[in-house]
Amino acid sequence: MTLEFRCRDVGVVCKGKIRSDNEEDLIAQIAKHADEVHDVPNLTQTLVNYAKSTVTSSSPGESES
Ligand SMILES: [Zn+2]
Repeated sequence: MTLEFRCRDVGVVCKGKIRSDNEEDLIAQIAKHADEVHDVPNLTQTLVNYAKSTVTSSSPGESES
């Protein structure tokens, strides 16, 4: 399963897309991107929760079970 986060889904004008196959790593990558690209060095729990709520998941080549 691939998790995907898109900056534009949280209202940020950015073409950034972050993908990972586990949530912990995805959040870590989002935090890094936010710091490097958006000058947001510390994501609050609220922001993390909001980001999580917009994450989409897909299973390429597999049907949903
Ligand atoms: Zn971004």
